[in-house]
Amino acid sequence: MTLEELKGLDSQYVMQTYSRFPVAIDHGKGATVYDAEGKSYIDFTSGIGVTSVGYGNEKWLAAVTEQAAKLAHISNLFYAEPYAKLAKELCERSGMANAFFANSGAEANEGLIKLARKYSFDKYGKGRGTIVTLRNSFHGRSSATLTATGQDVFHNYFFPFPEGFRYGEATMDGVEAVAGHDVCAVLLELVQGESGVYPMDKAFVHDLAVLCAERDWLLLVDEVQTGVGRTGTLFAFQQYGILPDAVSFAKGIAGGLPFGGFLASEKCREVLTAGTHGSTFGGNPIGAAAGLAVLDILNEEALGEVKEKGSYLRNAIEAMELPCLGETRGLGMMIGIEVKGERTNKELASLLVQHGLLVLTAGPALRLLPPLTITRDEMEQGLAILRQTLSE
Ligand SMILES: *Cc1c(COP(=O)(O)O)cnc(C)c1O
Repeated sequence: MTLEELKGLDSQYVMQTYSRFPVAIDHGKGATVYDAEGKSYIDFTSGIGVTSVGYGNEKWLAAVTEQAAKLAHISNLFYAEPYAKLAKELCERSGMANAFFANSGAEANEGLIKLARKYSFDKYGKGRGTIVTLRNSFHGRSSATLTATGQDVFHNYFFPFPEGFRYGEATMDGVEAVAGHDVCAVLLELVQGESGVYPMDKAFVHDLAVLCAERDWLLLVDEVQTGVGRTGTLFAFQQYGILPDAVSFAKGIAGGLPFGGFLASEKCREVLTAGTHGSTFGGNPIGAAAGLAVLDILNEEALGEVKEKGSYLRNAIEAMELPCLGETRGLGMMIGIEVKGERTNKELASLLVQHGLLVLTAGPALRLLPPLTITRDEMEQGLAILRQTLSE
């Protein structure tokens, strides 16, 4: 099928909720993907942080195909080994106590919201269900997580939105300004991804954790984008010197399959009891087997390399001194690049894609989320395309 034919099919039969680049990707290997005509692209996006170990990773592929041949699905009415093994691995490597598995980031965050409200209900009864989130946050597209998202542009059309969320600035005064007796939790990203890749201040996060402990608010960390090695540790909270009461993850965990979930700390391990939460597909054996392979690939050595590769990319981009790009920011291989000059970030991204480098935008910035296993050679190729395309 030609690109024009595919576009025709899409516009006729697919809801037009996405503005797509005019490229149809057919297959990939490592951090390189190919369109139907065989043109190659270096991928600095990992499908928005999902293909964490690249395309066609052999360990991942073997785990997925073996599990698919054995048992694709059985439901949570029965035990299945991959679920329990993945939960153990995630808990042991994060210091958390137990896990719940779902299928996406929004669903994982729904779980955090339910966990916080039930924790509070069990202890204090009704009337303490409000969750404070931060300005410029992003937590998902379901009704509740869209409401939790601290950006007014998202609070449109879909009225009535659920109640129980308030938005504070990412400062102690900002949080105190919206605090009240009805609050049960604070939910935050440690690096705000969708709004432009803004790492949180470490002192703020530390003070916030202390405040949460004092008021018995749960500290909920949304690691849907920052989790699973993206920032150079398994979870970003491990670099912030805090232990959240619960943490969500999704994007990178199963290396390309829809999977997500959340971990609870010891204090919250028994909040969600039989019948209070569930998911038909959640913890699906193939996804869980894929997750185990991803965690095996992302061992301590690989995580150390994520930090090195992230600094390497940022330094290389800053050293180019391109007139249209400003400073870089981020953590590990979650990188935001400031855009200057006449062309918007979207125009720059389109140009780069056209020249063979897949990049993302976030807020006003360009955003890079390369596969964590990207090779030095692929980084060099991607940087060369960036330099050539944007120095014109
Ligand atoms: C992507 C993202 C989500 C939503 O994940 P979906 O899988 O699209 O539902 C939630 N929170 C953060 C921080 C994200 O980056």
